[in-house]
Amino acid sequence: MTVTSDAKPLRLAITGMSCAGCVAAVETALSGVAGVAKAQVNFAERTAQVMGDVAAATLIDAVRAAGYEAAELRDTHAEAEEREAAEQAHYRRLVRNTLIAGLLAAPLMIAEMAGWLPALTAPNGPRFWIATGLLTLAAMVYSGGHFFIGAWRQFRHHTANMDTLIALGTGAAWLYSMLVTLFPASVPSLARHAYFEAAVTIIALINLGSALESRARGKASAAIQRLLGLQPKTARVVEGDLERDVPIESIGIAMLIRVRPGEKIPVDGEITSGQSLVDEAMLTGEALPVTKREGDPVTGGTVNQTGTFVFRARRVGSDTVLAQIIASVRQAQSSKPPIARLADRVAAIFVPSVLIIAVLTALVWFNFGPEPRLSYMLVTTLTVLIIACPCALGLATPISIMVGVGKAAEYGILIRDGAALQRAGQLTTVVLDKTGTVTIGRPTVTAIVAAPGFEETEIFRLAAGLEAGSEHPLARAILDAAGERGLTLSPVAQFQAITGQGAVGQVENRTLMVGNRRLLAERSIDTTPLHTEAERWAAQGQTPVFVAVDGALAGLIMVADPPKPDAAAAIARLRALGLRLVLLTGDHAATAHAIAAQVGIDEVFAEVSPTDKAKLIVDLQADGAVVGMVGDGINDAPALAQADVGFAMGTGTDIAIESAGITVVRGSLHGIADAVAISRATLSNIRQNLVGAFLYNILGIPLAAGALYPATGLLLNPMLAGAAMALSSFTVVSNANRLRSFHPRGTPT
Ligand code: ADP
Ligand code: MG
Repeated sequence: MTVTSDAKPLRLAITGMSCAGCVAAVETALSGVAGVAKAQVNFAERTAQVMGDVAAATLIDAVRAAGYEAAELRDTHAEAEEREAAEQAHYRRLVRNTLIAGLLAAPLMIAEMAGWLPALTAPNGPRFWIATGLLTLAAMVYSGGHFFIGAWRQFRHHTANMDTLIALGTGAAWLYSMLVTLFPASVPSLARHAYFEAAVTIIALINLGSALESRARGKASAAIQRLLGLQPKTARVVEGDLERDVPIESIGIAMLIRVRPGEKIPVDGEITSGQSLVDEAMLTGEALPVTKREGDPVTGGTVNQTGTFVFRARRVGSDTVLAQIIASVRQAQSSKPPIARLADRVAAIFVPSVLIIAVLTALVWFNFGPEPRLSYMLVTTLTVLIIACPCALGLATPISIMVGVGKAAEYGILIRDGAALQRAGQLTTVVLDKTGTVTIGRPTVTAIVAAPGFEETEIFRLAAGLEAGSEHPLARAILDAAGERGLTLSPVAQFQAITGQGAVGQVENRTLMVGNRRLLAERSIDTTPLHTEAERWAAQGQTPVFVAVDGALAGLIMVADPPKPDAAAAIARLRALGLRLVLLTGDHAATAHAIAAQVGIDEVFAEVSPTDKAKLIVDLQADGAVVGMVGDGINDAPALAQADVGFAMGTGTDIAIESAGITVVRGSLHGIADAVAISRATLSNIRQNLVGAFLYNILGIPLAAGALYPATGLLLNPMLAGAAMALSSFTVVSNANRLRSFHPRGTPT
């Protein structure tokens, strides 16, 4: 199987992004570079993906100019480990920041509450408070320095982000407290209070929140880690009588590689000797191991079980199926569904809006507030700056998409982008192509009926001669049957395929027509003598293929293509998801109805030509249905493209990921039910996150500004605001992580 995709995107690691507003800034900076076709920032992973013809250095300069840092990612093993180590170091740094700030904050708070702290006017008051202020400053520089540096960098680029809010809030609290300490006379006596403990507590809490979030985010990106981990680091190359272990990067095409029991297969290839059972579950979600013999393809990242074999490498590096699955998952993880649009628009203007609200709050309290006005003004403004959290808003969608897309990959489902994911969750109707989708797709001949004056072997020889020119699965069945009978075929002349009907041509100087009833009827050949026979077989789900020789009906070949063994169970699941199911086929009506009955579908559209398949989807959509179309991706391309979500089944050799919104790597219809269930779960997770983040800010900011004060006298403590803010984004990430334990089949597998 091959996953086709555009040129490889450039990937950058971005540092300095603290909130969703930064995502927009970095994306705009990248998109503005000449030659960039598309730039996407994955906020959850702190990476950017850029498509287009452009040098990494140019992009890095553009990111720097916007106030952030960037480095190119090449995704070798060493680099993945380096990034992992950097992430760990960052986490430890956040924990250290929390501890240092907390070490000062905790005793200060306890002493404050116990009333142990000296008043500013007490004999040793000034000395105590100056010392406390200096200690606080030291803790703020050590544990919160990054907020101030970030805010400064933003300021120099005439922008603002979350760092700005935190730096302004805690900075103002410290400056005011220092002012009160050094020049108590400069503020009214009632307002003489220091807020050092608030500043340092907020710094501690926000660091704690980031540490928790970083941990949870690490879990959320586990799917990519898992896929990356499937690739072994070395492979055992066979050269004549010698065998040696080489790093996977230096494997070339056509090299021979030995795989021993229990080992992971390093790259894609074809077995040249030996045989074994291979577990492909991690790539396809298919639980049963597959037998592989000489000549069979093997896929990098799957696990050899008991046997030993040697295979020839066919695809290496970024061409392997695993590499392309990883690329496709990454791409999908950083794309956003339409549902994210509102949150993104709000996030983009969030920080400036909060700054304006903070200024308004200050003005209102200063002009209309009770005494001590300065204290009230400071506390409310500080609380507004601290409680506002664009992170929760910005993380709400991408973090769930990241987990959802990863979850899907675990089940062998590749989702092209956020839009496909959202649509799949909203489907009302699923249209299934019959051949190769509901059925196994490897038809075999079961019977033949000759018309008077014709002989069975003659019909076979002539029909197979014609079908040698056809690509249709039915043609292959007839050719195989002729082969089994040991017939020698004559070449076909003037071969012509009639789409959706069959084929015509000249064999042994006789005019041959092989196909459905319509093919013959439209060429005025009477098919009635064999109708009863045809209907009898069709009622059992077999396809009657009519054969005409020199304008006369010659016989009927019966071809059976039974449903996949798990089709009925998968269709029952789709029905349980509340979906309307439709079987769509170019095949004989009675055959289609019989197959539909066997698998439990009650709506059938049969004898539909390929062009009419797309029209049928349009009709369903006109009636208000949101339609998913499941097909093989090649024959049914127009219908797949017309559907709201096209599902391609990867049964065959090639999965054309570009033509379908969702690709099911293994050829089972269970994949469709899994995809719909995962999409729905992801969508409702996103909704919970968005509602939570919006509500948090919509309620939190007015509360912090003191909206309840006039009526109830209630004001929010700035430290409580710090705790709420620290928890808000952590809550969003944790909620998304709940998706990781979602089981599309209802029970743990
Ligand atoms: P499906 O929807 O089952 O994939 P197609 O559009 O490929 O159907 O074909 C529709 C019908 O046309 C088939 O069921 C078969 O009866 C007939 N047909 C098409 N091509 C051939 C062929 N090469 N040989 C015999 N019958 C054919
Ligand atoms: Mg077909």
